[in-house]
Amino acid sequence: MLLIECPWCGPRAETEFSCGGEAGIARPLDTDQLTDKEWGDYLFMRKNPRGVHHEQWMHTQGCRRWFKAQRDTVSYEIQGYETFELPLLSMGSDANAPGQSQSQTQSQTQGKAGSNAQEGTAS
Ligand SMILES: [Zn+2]
Repeated sequence: MLLIECPWCGPRAETEFSCGGEAGIARPLDTDQLTDKEWGDYLFMRKNPRGVHHEQWMHTQGCRRWFKAQRDTVSYEIQGYETFELPLLSMGSDANAPGQSQSQTQSQTQGKAGSNAQEGTAS
């Protein structure tokens, strides 16, 4: 079982989280202009790399916030976390903990995370 560190709640068991798949997939702007192959690629084709992978995770049994994790798919080691308003946080670094400035950007984060999640799981 993975031990995943929620940027807001701290380390928790993997069973508290839902994986949202590959991070950083942008929905095409003009979907009417896409071919079926391009639309299918957007919906279904993922990198699935051997090595470093960027993923979206939701702390479903906790704070219900989305964040991104950089994980090695070979060793399962999670190398860092990223919220939707802060860049990658290295493991063990508390200097830029998101809780310090979270109150003013909390609602923005949830809005962005929600739209991003829909992109990741669109069917
Ligand atoms: Zn959490």
